[in-house]
Amino acid sequence: MIEVSNQPPPLENYNLLSSDPILSEALVREGANFALEDLRALGRKLGTAEMIAAGAEANRNPPVLKSFDRYGHRIDEVTFHDSWHALLGLALANGLHSGPWVKPRKGAHVARAGGCFMLAQIESGVYCPVSMTYAAVATLKHAPGAVAEWLPRIYSRAYDPSFKPAEQKTSALIGMGMTENQGGSDLRANVSRAEPFAESGGRRFYRIHGHKWFMSAPMCDAFLMLAQTAAGPTCFLVPRWTEEGTRNAIHIRRLKDKLGNRSNASSEVELEGALGELIGEEGRGIPTIIEMGNYTRLDCAIGTAGLMRQGLAQAVHHARHRRAFQKLLIDQALMANVLADLAIESEAATVLAMRLARAYDEEDEAALAYRRVVTPAAKFWICKRGPAFAAEAMEVLGGNGYVEEFNLARIYREMPLNSIWEGSGNVMCLDVLRALARTPAAIDMLLGEMHEACNADGRLRAHVVKLQERSRQLDEGQARSFVRDLVVGLQAALLIRHATADVADAFSATRLSGDGGAFGLLPAGTNVRAIIDRAAPAVN
Ligand SMILES: Cc1cc2nc3c(=O)[nH]c(=O)nc-3n(C[C@H](O)[C@H](O)[C@H](O)COP(=O)(O)OP(=O)(O)OC[C@H]3O[C@@H](n4cnc5c(N)ncnc54)[C@H](O)[C@@H]3O)c2cc1C
Repeated sequence: MIEVSNQPPPLENYNLLSSDPILSEALVREGANFALEDLRALGRKLGTAEMIAAGAEANRNPPVLKSFDRYGHRIDEVTFHDSWHALLGLALANGLHSGPWVKPRKGAHVARAGGCFMLAQIESGVYCPVSMTYAAVATLKHAPGAVAEWLPRIYSRAYDPSFKPAEQKTSALIGMGMTENQGGSDLRANVSRAEPFAESGGRRFYRIHGHKWFMSAPMCDAFLMLAQTAAGPTCFLVPRWTEEGTRNAIHIRRLKDKLGNRSNASSEVELEGALGELIGEEGRGIPTIIEMGNYTRLDCAIGTAGLMRQGLAQAVHHARHRRAFQKLLIDQALMANVLADLAIESEAATVLAMRLARAYDEEDEAALAYRRVVTPAAKFWICKRGPAFAAEAMEVLGGNGYVEEFNLARIYREMPLNSIWEGSGNVMCLDVLRALARTPAAIDMLLGEMHEACNADGRLRAHVVKLQERSRQLDEGQARSFVRDLVVGLQAALLIRHATADVADAFSATRLSGDGGAFGLLPAGTNVRAIIDRAAPAVN
């Protein structure tokens, strides 16, 4: 019998919020003090062995498409594992899909961001319909008729997994259908067509023919979709059931066999005269649905920051318990450098994601400009750092990290997705250039955010001067390096103002130099132990 030794205890039955001072501080700073008690309760629940196991189970048992019933009727139903429903039910019960819309108040979007940050750590697949439902509200507001009918269902916290007309259910989830086979980034190239069909009470209904090449969470109750009308790309709300109580003509061709995100279904669908309601104006579909896209992009940054936090927590936990060469890994100088480097990356992602969420709680010009520029910028850079981060965190666990039973393999497979969907890296950087061109005051406002911190750090001062010069002539081919520098400048400023001097100093020393290579490159003299102690999950 092999004796099991030198293996750490599992990191479970801990509170994802109480054990994370960096998240707690950010939530308070950005206005979500009022929600801490509820978020602590959610953090405790998500950190239980039961919920951690549910996340793994939901991924080990991916959804299954059933196209026809036993008699041959088309049914287009996708069944999910019980664990998926348990986690999605928990997310809805905590209002992660709608809380800030139901009770708008200072800090509401930040509070929700805190909940989602923790949800992503346990299961990212269910975050997809949660995020799309939350985001859809911004677009649905363009259609008073649809608002009156759908918002009460969307706002409900009573998750209802049954497949039946939305008016018979206790709640509704909303998905998104933009991407088509011939092009996803270039939405003007969409070929699905919509023909006017009926009008009733000021609401206009169309029949849609065409397809969607990626449509995730296909058991949502309705989808915001783009289709061409004579005026150009137009936005529609397409329910799974028609008012007559029949299945709408959304036929699921197949489910994608994906690298990660396996608990979630992503489908290809064919629209064979599906009934859809016009949202906004004909021909204005892209700006209308992109309002939804801004919120899901915010969620990509939050979700990746959450995944980083979980990767870091697992890595530090392992290093605290595992010995090699007669010493704990955490006491090995080179491992401490790697862990501290991961810790500052994780903290930088967390503070920027929460700062960005605050911009969604504010309505002044500065906040709107911040949203417009920093949403795609943060999505690009935080998500771009994700896969490298996960690979390094995985390596801290050695061979165990590569094994599916440890959750780092799942985190590693999940990471690239946030960079690809909702606008891939290049598209995000081009979006930043467009936003800066359209809002010339934005760059000064963003540099102003960094300014206060410059007095404390000459490296940031020099960085800001360079950014200012480069912003005068933005070059498309250099957009990635400009956006990266913009984001690390914002992150450095936040860390200088709000993190410890050790964290801020290590970040400026490595990230403002612009090379951003592997982890574990912190310079000699860095107080790595203090950085790790700050970030270590506060358990046992
Ligand atoms: C698991 C999964 C689930 C998804 N779920 C949904 C969903 O529910 N609903 C939905 O609508 N979509 C969904 N998508 C689709 C996703 O949003 C798109 O795949 C993504 O937006 C990219 O579009 P594309 O695949 O058509 O790639 P393309 O548009 O062909 O882009 C390919 C590459 O070219 C780059 N590129 C594009 N234009 C430029 C340019 N001008 N300059 C430089 N580079 C450029 C892009 O950044 C990208 O790297 C999902 C995707 C995945 C992987």
